[in-house]
Amino acid sequence: MSIPEVALSSSSTTRAMPVLGMGTGGYPFTVDAKKKLAIRHAIELGYRHFDTASLYQFEPALGEAIAEALHLGLINSRSDIFITSKLWCTDAHPDLVLPAIRETLRNLKLDYLDLYLIHWPMSLKPGACPLPIKSEDIVPLDLKSVWGAMEECQRLGLAKSIGVSNFTRKKIAELLQTAKIPPAVNQVELNPVWQQKTLIEFCKEKGIHVIAYSPLGGQAWPGSKNLVLESEVLNDISKAKGKTVAQVSLRWIYEQGASMVVKSLNKERMKENMGIFDWELSEEDHLKISQIPQCKRISTYSLLSPQESRNSIDLLDVDIVED
Ligand code: NAP
Repeated sequence: MSIPEVALSSSSTTRAMPVLGMGTGGYPFTVDAKKKLAIRHAIELGYRHFDTASLYQFEPALGEAIAEALHLGLINSRSDIFITSKLWCTDAHPDLVLPAIRETLRNLKLDYLDLYLIHWPMSLKPGACPLPIKSEDIVPLDLKSVWGAMEECQRLGLAKSIGVSNFTRKKIAELLQTAKIPPAVNQVELNPVWQQKTLIEFCKEKGIHVIAYSPLGGQAWPGSKNLVLESEVLNDISKAKGKTVAQVSLRWIYEQGASMVVKSLNKERMKENMGIFDWELSEEDHLKISQIPQCKRISTYSLLSPQESRNSIDLLDVDIVED
């Protein structure tokens, strides 16, 4: 089973990005042998795109897994894989971007990233606790200068492409006013339960490729429902098509013209998630999916510690819910 690829605009390389990648995030950010083994399994199955972030604390383990895969001959060279990492808010300051990407590259034991993203449209005081966020640590994001430093990462060859994550149309428009290199990508929460139609249209117009995170509704939390995997509409479509609900959700994302990063530690499910490229959803399926009630899962508020008084601060400027 091979995974289709998409060429990113404003990229300094000809390496195309596989539209399906393996996610490495998951709270709490612990690293164990099972997670590392999952990377090996993914490579064995044919995954070549891995999504990480300094926040996830998984970069060193991912670097080791890649080195092992090279050593075992599962991949021939570094250029066979596509690695994304992200700048966390504590480093979203003009003078901290280059040190942050260099630290990420040291962690991964790589010379360059294929894609480097601003993780969140927000800055935190340098050295602040990365997560949960304390509202008093939030400081204004100097987007023009931080993006300038991201551009320097690309000019220096430390990242082949640069982009953003969790950016609304308003934030992208602000960035485009001064950007010399436009963002190649906006990575956002996207699935049939959070469809982001206007954002997707806007990104298309601007030549910015959308990558879906939480494409299956996100990681499981005790006591909370997964609105994607438990959707009746998706379940009905999956039965009629002889596919799984997960496959219907991923196929729907693919048919929006977006890529996706999915996380699974289970080799069977990794394989299942690759089985979305040789069939289609019908117009009727799309119509039914378009009527699913919408619900966003991740927002800046959800990153605050539970003790924080959510009413005492105004996060409107940094929040990521698209209007
Ligand atoms: P997700 O990929 O939507 O869902 C992951 C969950 O789905 C895991 O619990 C996994 O369990 C389960 N799963 C995987 N395949 C399945 C299948 N075929 N059937 C049933 N369950 C399945 O959620 P996510 O981890 O939030 O998002 C994916 C990646 O996006 C992250 O790992 C991270 O790299 C990235 N991300 C980025 C941001 C950002 O701000 N940019 C935010 C969140 C996530 P098993 O492991 O047991 O299979």
